[in-house]
Amino acid sequence: MLGLMQSQPLLTSSLIDFAERHHGDAEIVSRRVEGDLHRYTYADMAKRSRQVANALDKLGEGGLAFSDRVATLAWNGYRHMELYFGVGGSGRVVHTINPRLHPDQVAWIMNHAEDQVLIFDATFLPLVQKVHAQAQTVKHWILLCDADKLPADTGIPGLLSYEAWIANQSTDYEWPQFDENSAASMCYTSGTTGNPKAALYSHRSSVLHAYAASLPDVMAMSARDSVLPVVPMFHVNAWGIPYSAPLTGAKLVFPGPALDGKSVYELIESEQVTYAAGVPTVWQMMLSHMQPAQLKFSSLKRTVIGGSACPPAMIHSFQEDYGVEVLHAWGMTEMSPLGTLSTLKNKHLSLPKDEQMKVRLKQGRAIFGVDMKIVNDEGKELPWDGKTYGDLLVRGPWILAEYFKGEGGDPLQYDDKGRGWFPTGDVATIDADGFMQITDRSKDVIKSGGEWISSIDIENIAMGHPAVAMAACIGMPHPKWDERPIVVVVKKPNASVSKEELLAFYQGKTAKWQIPDDVVFVDAIPIGATGKMLKTKLREQLIDYQLPS
Ligand code: ADP
Repeated sequence: MLGLMQSQPLLTSSLIDFAERHHGDAEIVSRRVEGDLHRYTYADMAKRSRQVANALDKLGEGGLAFSDRVATLAWNGYRHMELYFGVGGSGRVVHTINPRLHPDQVAWIMNHAEDQVLIFDATFLPLVQKVHAQAQTVKHWILLCDADKLPADTGIPGLLSYEAWIANQSTDYEWPQFDENSAASMCYTSGTTGNPKAALYSHRSSVLHAYAASLPDVMAMSARDSVLPVVPMFHVNAWGIPYSAPLTGAKLVFPGPALDGKSVYELIESEQVTYAAGVPTVWQMMLSHMQPAQLKFSSLKRTVIGGSACPPAMIHSFQEDYGVEVLHAWGMTEMSPLGTLSTLKNKHLSLPKDEQMKVRLKQGRAIFGVDMKIVNDEGKELPWDGKTYGDLLVRGPWILAEYFKGEGGDPLQYDDKGRGWFPTGDVATIDADGFMQITDRSKDVIKSGGEWISSIDIENIAMGHPAVAMAACIGMPHPKWDERPIVVVVKKPNASVSKEELLAFYQGKTAKWQIPDDVVFVDAIPIGATGKMLKTKLREQLIDYQLPS
């Protein structure tokens, strides 16, 4: 017997319809490429999304087909948001491209995705000029600018201005109803090894993820929040915030291209942001701007930090110096991206602060919708004791089943019930309360004399030293131990610390055999397209390095 409830497909267009009807006056504020602050409401955004949908229906001969890819190269802003809904809502697929990738990689991705349209911010005009001749499938090029700001002689055939393109379109549009499993958006992984592969998110997975993300123990989004996604809309849908904000009616604040510490801090203050999300490197820049000037926050209450391990010193500083709660989060492109968040349980509230901190430092507990386990090399499940580490596998309705075009074959590992689990490539422990802690990326873990050393642990200790701005721990080949860790360090401006002092700083903080063999000071550590340290590049840079004998 089937249930007798109404059956409605879960479609992203329902989110913007809802926001327009119930939170029509909630604001969306965007720092633009033009430099100014643009303000409008969800009601305005909904109208313009429908204009985008109408424009797509008329694009070329007979309009753009269902599931055709519309690529974007754009910062976080209101026009990008209109594309999320206008493109996805009308049945096409928003393909967000990471502009920090190498131009050849951008061109490769566009061809692989078979993008039909590319819509981009003025910042990326030089990039598009470089790649447009290589893009074999793109028929329409649209610049996110006013009608009178379209530059002449760009060399890009038929380049249109976005505002001119949508200007005469009707604001009426009936969002089509279709299978909720249809693709809504796509994002390529950064492909640190081999060619990038694409995750293809469905309407259903995006809406379910948005529901889950809004829960109190996840991102806790509400109509009383002013939310600043510093995480880019060009990578994993800015952690789904463009979908969960209209679902809750939260005010949205978009930083555009201004991601330096000063700009982000000033935007938080001027727009009374209560809630911000970003990777540790972004917050490092902001705290470095705030500390010397002794600046404080007047509105910020919570920040979600993830994408790479959040150093304890950062959690501590946010909480103790600024009264901002840090929610440490873990996820990945293949997971839409949210997997776990570290929010305390009731039983933790009475613990002393340093015990609570140990819990907050973990990557956290699974959100309903994400099932996880750790396994050994034979695929056997390992205990949740907080000590045993193994390969972390996940499954759930917003976790990838297959890459676009079946790239790389079947990525799943099957259990004895025939259920497919996605291998995350992370090594982790899970404790009895279900809190997961990443030991390392499996390719970054350092194998010394048959034992494993977590590069994250070694980095976190260095980051706790007052003179250290950034630290990367990598393994170096060793004749006896296979590998030994070294720590590569960027000092804070005007700060000083010697190699001997830093190595002494490790004493008592970790087992003796885990203390790095050497410290290498550098001016900068290479950062990848998603704001993470690029250890592959760092290893290349240190190709001639020799461990001290
Ligand atoms: P890419 O590096 O391809 O852009 P993702 O952005 O999907 O990939 O990153 C996913 C990976 O980032 C995870 O598998 C994990 O290794 C790392 N990661 C994400 N969040 C955290 C975190 N809070 N702590 C440690 N590692 C993290």
